[in-house]
Amino acid sequence: MLLKVQRKKIIETALKAQRDKLIPLTMGNFSIRDKKTGYICITPSGMEYSLLNPEDIVVVDLQGAIIEGNRKPSIETQLHCRTYAKRSDVYGICHTHSTYATAWACCGREIPVIVAELAGMIGGPVKCAPYAPMGTTELADIVAKNIGSQNAVLMENHGMLAVGDDIDKAYANAFIVEEAAKVTMYAMQIGGMKTITDQECKALRKQTQEGYGQK
Ligand SMILES: [Zn+2]
Repeated sequence: MLLKVQRKKIIETALKAQRDKLIPLTMGNFSIRDKKTGYICITPSGMEYSLLNPEDIVVVDLQGAIIEGNRKPSIETQLHCRTYAKRSDVYGICHTHSTYATAWACCGREIPVIVAELAGMIGGPVKCAPYAPMGTTELADIVAKNIGSQNAVLMENHGMLAVGDDIDKAYANAFIVEEAAKVTMYAMQIGGMKTITDQECKALRKQTQEGYGQK
């Protein structure tokens, strides 16, 4: 079997997302790009995550053509492929419909930076890509364009997409966007919310890229 370790990791990540309530039912999809082959391992369409085996994860190329696997790949395969094509630094992608981030996306509003980790991990405010129907190449292109060089983007009336240089980082980014979406909503209700300046966002991003975590 091709890329067994990566296929197992996808299942682990999907189950974690379910446990952490980042996705209702199976509404979300997860992928890893293998550094050696360039192939992408992605969740199959509409299968219960707790029943997945490594062979259910589909291996596709950068164009989305199936290399190995008997299942139908996620309907958002092009969303993943086109994001990888635009971002040579990305090796893991999580697309979720987490509640608070999706609420912001349904208002077409970007999430401003009021918590430092959003600047540090995502790179600034989380923008909202304009609406396009799910599962289309139009959506894939709009999202890939709007994420720019940041690590997450909202998808209007739909959900969010987070990327990373591996799937664990992409997952952490998806988690942090959901937390920021929640905190910001509460802060707005309290009133008098203070945002972090662009200049400070840049400094926080630099600090995170250079110094955070174990070396
Ligand atoms: Zn979706």
